[in-house]
Amino acid sequence: MESTTTSDIEIMLSSQSKINEVDFENLTFGTVFTDHMLVCDFKNGEWQKPVIQPYQPFTLDPSTKVFHYGQAIFEGMKAYKDEQGDVWMFRANENFNRFNKSAIRLAMPEVPEEVFMGGLRKLLHIEKDWVRYGMGRSLYIRPYMIATGEGVIAQPSSEYKFVIILSPAKSYYNQEVKVVIANHYSRAANGGIGAAKAAGNYAGQFYPTKLAVEKGFQQIIWTDDATHTKLEEAGTMNVFFRINNTLITAPTSERILDGVTRKSLIDLAKREGIDVEVRSLLVDELLNAAKNGTLKEIFGAGTAAVINPIVGFAYEDLYFDLPKIENSMAMELKDKLNKIQYKLAEDTFGWTE
Ligand code: PMP
Repeated sequence: MESTTTSDIEIMLSSQSKINEVDFENLTFGTVFTDHMLVCDFKNGEWQKPVIQPYQPFTLDPSTKVFHYGQAIFEGMKAYKDEQGDVWMFRANENFNRFNKSAIRLAMPEVPEEVFMGGLRKLLHIEKDWVRYGMGRSLYIRPYMIATGEGVIAQPSSEYKFVIILSPAKSYYNQEVKVVIANHYSRAANGGIGAAKAAGNYAGQFYPTKLAVEKGFQQIIWTDDATHTKLEEAGTMNVFFRINNTLITAPTSERILDGVTRKSLIDLAKREGIDVEVRSLLVDELLNAAKNGTLKEIFGAGTAAVINPIVGFAYEDLYFDLPKIENSMAMELKDKLNKIQYKLAEDTFGWTE
């Protein structure tokens, strides 16, 4: 293992790369990781020197707070490569800012920009061979932070670990997604942690989603917890509805994650002259639109798949299929956003960095 230290970051390179063992044509999302990871510990009230080291397991005491109280947050973002071999990210600053908003909400220390962004850029430089060139190929970036203080006392930890791991990804044709509209369980509540990318938000969705999967659906569209009348968000995606030629998506709130893909699609759709309404669509409006044929499309928007069309939905005893559509707005917007992400179209918004 070769070890070097720059003034702000320690680098320990692995002696052998695993890259030749990886089949980049057959990747299962989120299962293969690159040779190195970035780790930065918070203790004695301050961030220590970040270290880039070979990807390896941690050893943690069984009383470590994250195991008991779930004080954990994460992000999901992507890096891309062009024909010249240059690597870039899509709106990475948005993820950095959202990470620190999540940290504040979970009573965790904010991560300095030089650790998050500076460390990430250095890590990407080291792992640049893992970012493959070509439409649909990317390197998924997973920054996260866990409470590493010890002791089964329900209080915020005084020690934390910030980590970045990287996973090569290749997108496949979209899965046919059918959803159930929530009428009992909730993902988030007013005053809760729904707007944070907190680990517990995902754990809480697993059981209701399992019930939906048992009935032949893949995901849930969450509604507001108080009345279950407003359509809010899908499992790990924001959600858009097209009624006639208008796109409708819920406003962000304490209950909804402020998705980077969602906000990019709103800007892109407006630029394309598409009518966009940021407002809560009611379940009743959706049912009426499905019955009278004005509901044209529903799609989820998120980093992993960019856009995932929804082909059918259930609400209580009702089920509606969404007919296949010519001139799909979902597909048009996906194509436009992909072209910006892969630098195949001019990035007039300045989103690639
Ligand atoms: N909502 C939730 C709950 C999510 O986990 C995600 C994925 N981060 C999104 C929406 C989409 O956000 P983004 O476009 O930033 O990936």
